[in-house]
Amino acid sequence: MDKIQFKDMNISFEIKKAIEDLGFEEPSPIQSLAIPKALEGKDIIGQAQTGTGKTAAFGIPILEEIYPEDKSPQAIILCPTRELAIQVAEELRKLSKHMKKIRILPVYGGQPINRQIKSLKKGVHIIIGTPGRIMDHMQRGTLDLTGVERVVLDEADEMLDMGFRDDMEFILKEIPHRRQTLLFSATMSKVILKLTKKYQNNPELLKVAHHKLTVPKINQTYYEVKDKMKLEVLSRLLDIHDITLALVFCNTKRRVDRLVRDLETRGYLVGGIHGDLSQRQRDTVMSKFRKGKIDILVATDVAARGIDVPDVEAVFNYDVPNDDEYYVHRIGRTGRAGKTGHAFTFVSGKEIYKLRDIQRYTKTKIKQEKIPSIKDIEKIKRGLLLEKIKTSIEEEDLNKYIHMVEGLIEIGYNSVEISAALLKKVMGEE
Ligand code: ADP
Ligand code: MG
Repeated sequence: MDKIQFKDMNISFEIKKAIEDLGFEEPSPIQSLAIPKALEGKDIIGQAQTGTGKTAAFGIPILEEIYPEDKSPQAIILCPTRELAIQVAEELRKLSKHMKKIRILPVYGGQPINRQIKSLKKGVHIIIGTPGRIMDHMQRGTLDLTGVERVVLDEADEMLDMGFRDDMEFILKEIPHRRQTLLFSATMSKVILKLTKKYQNNPELLKVAHHKLTVPKINQTYYEVKDKMKLEVLSRLLDIHDITLALVFCNTKRRVDRLVRDLETRGYLVGGIHGDLSQRQRDTVMSKFRKGKIDILVATDVAARGIDVPDVEAVFNYDVPNDDEYYVHRIGRTGRAGKTGHAFTFVSGKEIYKLRDIQRYTKTKIKQEKIPSIKDIEKIKRGLLLEKIKTSIEEEDLNKYIHMVEGLIEIGYNSVEISAALLKKVMGEE
């Protein structure tokens, strides 16, 4: 069966447009399981690893069901921390940007409560918060939950770990019982399952199963690098390893476009493919890549899946993939036919958790490497050049050039001088 696509989902044009703007190529596994079920009104227990798109998995169906005209809270999302509450609010804002004004408010401890009360008074459709602060508002009577139709417990396991159990139960008891309750978590403990029995109505258990994954034997390394430094690090690695055929993966179509532009600006021969391009456009890029007119191909997982990418020297995970299986598919594009391939993964911020999962499920060790400095680059390049010279002496037919050198020696130069001058020429040009 083909995977369900966003366009096949029963969601409004406005949300589909926002998904398009975000550049999501296809739903992540938890999204394709959870969105249709949640839209049917079912209670859900969704389990999937960190970084697999759980926010949109509950966010899209929630936004779909909001009535903008009614300005009282219709959905409430409980999160374990302030950071997560803010992140969820941001993601929902992006997803709702083409909808009629949807008011989304994060509330958390530490922020002055009076400011939150003011915002609440103006009317809010979706409230996102830590259990402690939400309870606080309920007890003060500043948060009216009588109109709430949907509740999300995001990262439920973490909320329990943080000691929010009583607060969560207090809140769940207060919210009208004729509601939809969606629970999402990276892990599922017995305690959570007990809670679900008590507070959910015949929930559907959706779990993203992990298949056994076999990773090809290639050199795998990762670099911890801030998002805005990724371009620079990519250039350095391409230069250092003297890579002429590379495949770079991004998680969204927009990021592919952006990276292609940025690499072009830096003078690389690069092309990009993703689902927004027509078949003909993609074929053109691919044929250039095969003929060596392009050295670097930037792609989304979806676009790369459908095509036969030739064996490349290196695969770069510019973003850590949203699915462990993607990682294996991606890096399988290198190191074929007994050649050594390299897989470089860029990890920024909480992507490190995804990488941990990937290592766990693929049972491989991905080595951390330091980001090469400009000095390193020069040193390594020098080493590479000397290697090339050695290979050339050992393996190539140099007769013609030997005659030329002999010519120079006859006029009185010595071989050291001649070699040094040549090296200066070669390295200066680099
Ligand atoms: P989780 O809650 O499972 O840890 P998030 O919802 O925070 O994961 O999503 C992680 C990242 O993946 C976010 O940057 C989000 O915008 C992005 N993302 C979500 N869904 C998709 C998708 N279908 N395609 C590409 N990126 C996605
Ligand atoms: Mg999350």
